[in-house]
Amino acid sequence: MDKEVQQELLRTIPQVDECIHSLFDLDQVEHVPLLVIKNSVRDVLAEFRRRILAGERIDPGQLSLSSLQPVICEHIRQEMQPRFRRVLNCTGVIIHTNLGRSILPQITMDKLHGAGSRYSNLEYDLATGRRGSRYSLVEKLLCDLTGAEAALVVNNNAAAVLLVLETLAKGRDVIVSRGQLVEIGGSFRIPDVMSRSGARLVEIGATNRTHVRDYEEAISEETALLLKVHCSNFRIIGFTKEVSVEELVKIGRGRGLPVMEDLGSGCFVDLSRFGLMKEPTVQEVVAAGVDVVTFSGDKLLGGPQAGIILGRRQVIDRIKKNPVNRAMRIDKFTLCSLESILRLYFDERTALKTIPTLAMIAATPEEINRRAGRLLRRLRKQLSSCCKLGLADIMSRVGGGAMPEQNLASRAVVIEPSAIKVSRLEVLLRQLEVPVIGRIEDDRLLLDMRTVADDEVALLADCLQQAFAAASA
Ligand SMILES: *Cc1c(COP(=O)(O)O)cnc(C)c1O
Repeated sequence: MDKEVQQELLRTIPQVDECIHSLFDLDQVEHVPLLVIKNSVRDVLAEFRRRILAGERIDPGQLSLSSLQPVICEHIRQEMQPRFRRVLNCTGVIIHTNLGRSILPQITMDKLHGAGSRYSNLEYDLATGRRGSRYSLVEKLLCDLTGAEAALVVNNNAAAVLLVLETLAKGRDVIVSRGQLVEIGGSFRIPDVMSRSGARLVEIGATNRTHVRDYEEAISEETALLLKVHCSNFRIIGFTKEVSVEELVKIGRGRGLPVMEDLGSGCFVDLSRFGLMKEPTVQEVVAAGVDVVTFSGDKLLGGPQAGIILGRRQVIDRIKKNPVNRAMRIDKFTLCSLESILRLYFDERTALKTIPTLAMIAATPEEINRRAGRLLRRLRKQLSSCCKLGLADIMSRVGGGAMPEQNLASRAVVIEPSAIKVSRLEVLLRQLEVPVIGRIEDDRLLLDMRTVADDEVALLADCLQQAFAAASA
């Protein structure tokens, strides 16, 4: 496009103030703060300027005040929508960190309602009428469920690891196997957390193999702790050797050193019966005699975001007294929901049925297939003119950095749009009021029904219909 035409188009863009004035009488902006209107106008005009400068031939009519009005109003409408939104998770990744990790059961949500809207005994000891400790509300429960002597809960597992290292090993050495120096999503890296805590990392062994003698040889006057880290999101296969937690405890006892395990996604239930690899449960790690174990509240436990620290009383007491602990303390919503979740574990069958994370892992292919069938029937009625529909076998994932190599057989509804590209459909689905997040493979949209609840099927069908309607609008 020649410079002259471009300049002329740029001059056609109205002034910000003109646009704002042209909007004032509209109902749509009645309760909208002036700054939101102003910024929306700026955003819309800037976008037109960018397109013109990029050489796009824009019809000058599009730049008139009356043509701009609906565009700006739509922009304002989107700005005024809540940012934190419910989505439909059709990815089949159960603990999806980007989609909120674990979701909570209804009974827990009912408890949360009371915790937020009423006063509580958060830090009030009802037995003595004096100030109490918020942690005491869940400490006994955690001990009863796991066999640990003492417990403490902080904001997340990253905080838990940092706090334990800061308390037990600041200025001293912590011995870790090279094969366990994991980085998990969101830039949590063991070596970085270690240096932030003030502890010195002593790496031992080779990437694939670490032996008892590697620990023995690395121990010195400076050693404060032996640390084992769960290789959450990766696996070393082939010629490998790891020192078991039992062996590590034996070394620690022999040399008078505490042993810590960062379990990452700690689980109270053995999930191998659902076809997953046998992972040590929290109870087993505690029974092995570690001095401290840490894990997340919102991974396989299926609860709220939290970092749970279990261990020997003496060690936990030191951690509790660390002033850094105060900066990581959990709020009443976490405490209330964590207690509710923990109580469900008193009966394993209840836990597997009511805690969504566990129930989704336990769901049978038949159950998922029935759900997929229900969605398919609805879509056949609503959408058969605009896409090809079908079912397919698919593999779900546990997610959350837990059990990376393992799949759960599942069933997906498959959608092949006829008039639009599947990438376009994916964008439209993200822009819905309740966005739908699926998987794209071979130009088809796959909706894994493992992570969709039974009572979400009708909503999901409506959302898909809305997206196709938006495509033809
Ligand atoms: C997930 C994970 C963490 C971090 O836990 P958050 O609760 O996300 O802070 C730390 N260590 C390991 C091994 C993990 O898998």
